[in-house]
Amino acid sequence: MSSKGENMVYQSTRGGEENVSPSLAIVQGLAKDGGLFVPQEMPKLEKSLEDYAELSYQDLAYEIMKLYLTDFTEEELRYCINSAYDDKFSTKEIAPVVKKGDSYYLELFHGRTLAFKDMALSILPYLMKVSCKKNQIQEKIVILTATSGDTGKAAMEGFCDVDGCEIIVFYPKDGVSPFQERQMRAQKGENTHVAAILGNFDDAQSGVKKIFSDKAYQEKLLEKGYRLSSANSINIGRLVPQIVYYVYAYCRLQKSGELKAGESLNASVPTGNFGNILAAYCAKGMGLPLGKLLCASNDNKVLTDFFRTGIYDKNRPFHVTTSPSMDILISSNLERLLYFAGENAEECKKLMEELKDKGKYRISEAMEKELKDFYSGYGKEAEGSHSIFQTYKETGYVLDPHTAVAKVVADHYAYEQGRRDKCLVVSTASPYKFSQTVLKALKEPVPQDVFEGIEALEKLWKEPIPAPVKEVEEGEIRHSTVCSVEDMEATVSHFLLS
Ligand SMILES: *Cc1c(COP(=O)(O)O)cnc(C)c1O
Repeated sequence: MSSKGENMVYQSTRGGEENVSPSLAIVQGLAKDGGLFVPQEMPKLEKSLEDYAELSYQDLAYEIMKLYLTDFTEEELRYCINSAYDDKFSTKEIAPVVKKGDSYYLELFHGRTLAFKDMALSILPYLMKVSCKKNQIQEKIVILTATSGDTGKAAMEGFCDVDGCEIIVFYPKDGVSPFQERQMRAQKGENTHVAAILGNFDDAQSGVKKIFSDKAYQEKLLEKGYRLSSANSINIGRLVPQIVYYVYAYCRLQKSGELKAGESLNASVPTGNFGNILAAYCAKGMGLPLGKLLCASNDNKVLTDFFRTGIYDKNRPFHVTTSPSMDILISSNLERLLYFAGENAEECKKLMEELKDKGKYRISEAMEKELKDFYSGYGKEAEGSHSIFQTYKETGYVLDPHTAVAKVVADHYAYEQGRRDKCLVVSTASPYKFSQTVLKALKEPVPQDVFEGIEALEKLWKEPIPAPVKEVEEGEIRHSTVCSVEDMEATVSHFLLS
């Protein structure tokens, strides 16, 4: 075992791999036994929060990330950080915290695609590039992604013109919003490729999985100098950068006097794949004085039920909501929490097999006790809209539909407790990204045209429309490939080899 994170190694949550270096874990993405990589020991914060509070976002990112990515040199890690967190973000602070009413909002939506995925997907390409070099991987990396809208765009922005990488995104032709489709089809970069498939998101996802499991095809690509990889949120290279902003937010609040030294701060996180809130759990495990972690779901409340009953059961109807990035029934990163809670790969493996076979599992009572850091709740559609309306009326601040769910759950918790503890509401998307839903919640007229909706919202909120919106509106359409589900592999070949 490592001491003080001097030589951090990773192992699979299912026990099949051990002593994997950080850079190799990033290149591999998933462990060979299908598990996720976790650090063999949680590192501790090395300096005082007062010291951290003096640092810029980039310098703090270095201090935190170096504890996890111990085989990166300082030069390599700073190169990744400085390449990612630059003027691609519209605020110098990268992740500002604003106080409105009784909440602190941690704004994670100032990147290129106006959603929190940018926090990790801006840096992953550079971590990947350095990791490949360290492991003497010669081939070009090809990122293959199926998207229901947000991840694909954020991954393309991140990987755009990063040398040594190509990125291919498949999206369901009629399954993304007009704004999202335009965002993707106007994507710049010589190494970006987009195809609309004639099918739904599940078809796109299964098609990508099929390509990943076609070993003969991958061999063929390797011979031509291409190695397939994934930018999915199970990569440890996406988790680690997300820990940084929790430390950053706490330090800012302490420095400005909003928090006394060591005072407990709750965090309410709009949750889908359980990546963002897991980063909060890691930050707490490292010694950050976070209190309860509020796991906020929408009507797809599989996680709320899990935390309340100890039973995870994905056999239930799927609801399409106005917070689409949380419409998820299998939260992949929960596997990491199960591993940490049980510290038992054997048990974790068994639960994941049950999930695969029966779509359901129950955790032990001992494990349930280890989950007391979490409170879980969910916001119904009407509660989310009401919260957008109410927050705007009281403070003039506009919430996006995902953040609104986190606010609803923070309010539920305060009500149950009979008092309001200090709470960070994690804001995962710009309301401009969901202008029509937001206008409706504000009881304003909703124009048919997305861009008119965005302008109408600007008049109310008075925050300038972010530059990337204009670029999408005015950008030329560069991608027009459409293919059938059967032809996805052929489409990959076409993009890479012709
Ligand atoms: C992805 C996403 C989420 C969910 O985050 P997880 O890490 O998957 O739990 C919430 N809100 C928005 C806007 C997102 O894009």
